[in-house]
Amino acid sequence: MAEKILEIKHLKKSFGSNEVLKDINMDIHKGEVISIIGSSGSGKSTLLRSINLLEIPTGGEILYHGENVLQKGYDLPKYRTHLGMVFQSFNLFENLNVLENLIVAQTTVLKRERAEAEKIALENLTKVGMASFVQARPRQLSGGQKQRVAIARALSMNPEVILFDEPTSALDPEMVGEVLNIMNEVAKSGLTMVIVTHEMEFAREVSDRVIFMDKGVIAEEGSPEQLFVNPKEERTREFLQRYL
Ligand code: ADP
Ligand code: MG
Repeated sequence: MAEKILEIKHLKKSFGSNEVLKDINMDIHKGEVISIIGSSGSGKSTLLRSINLLEIPTGGEILYHGENVLQKGYDLPKYRTHLGMVFQSFNLFENLNVLENLIVAQTTVLKRERAEAEKIALENLTKVGMASFVQARPRQLSGGQKQRVAIARALSMNPEVILFDEPTSALDPEMVGEVLNIMNEVAKSGLTMVIVTHEMEFAREVSDRVIFMDKGVIAEEGSPEQLFVNPKEERTREFLQRYL
C-alpha cells in the first residue's frame, strides 16, 4: 500500500449541541481516489472542511505525514496549501478574469514569480480545455466552464490532495459530463482525490474506495464493487436504492 498522506483519527465536530461528526477514522494514501457518498446532512461537507481545517474539529487528530496538524504551533496556513478544494458553488473571484483567478494564490501564497505562475496557469487551463478563456470574467462562463476553471485553479497550487465537495451538484445536467471527464483525467494523472458526490456511476468508475456516511459516522466503506454491488449494511442498501 502506498504511503499515508493523511490519517484521520477519532475525528469529531459539533456545532453547539449538534454533533455532526462522531468518531471518524479514515486514512488517505498517496494516489488514492476516495468517494464519499451519503444523504444530505450526513456530515460530508463538514468532514471535508474539517480535513482542510476550514472547520476546527472538536476532537480527534489529523495526522499529515505522521504529524498532528492540530497540535499547538503547527503551521496551518502551510498545511492548507497542500490541500486543494473544489466547491459546489465554484467560489471564483468574480472581479478577476480567468487567468488572474489562477495566478493570485500562486503569487501571494506560494510566492511564485508572475511569469512562472502564468505558465502554470496556462498549462492547467489547457488541461481543462479553458485556455482560450483567459480574459473572460466568471460571469461570462457557464457553470461547467466555471467549475473547470476552479479545478485548474486548484491544480495550479500543486496540492498533494484535492478535496471536491459535490462539484457537479450546481450544474445543469448537460454540463455534468464535461466536469466529470476532467476529474477522470485528473484521477488518471495519479493525484490523490477525495470526492463528495451523488454521481454514483462516476464514483463507481473512478474510485479506489467508497465511503458511505450516515448521521455523522462512516456506516460502510469498501471497494466500489463491494459497496455498490454487494453492500453489507441495510442503510447503505436503502440509500443506494434511491440513487441507482
Ligand atoms: P452534508 O454535506 O452531508 O449534506 P453537512 O456537513 O453540510 O452535511 O451538514 C451536517 C450537519 O451539520 C447539518 O445538520 C448541518 O445543519 C450542520 N452544519 C454544517 N455546518 C454548520 C455550521 N457552520 N453551523 C452549524 N451547523 C452546521
Ligand atoms: Mg454537503
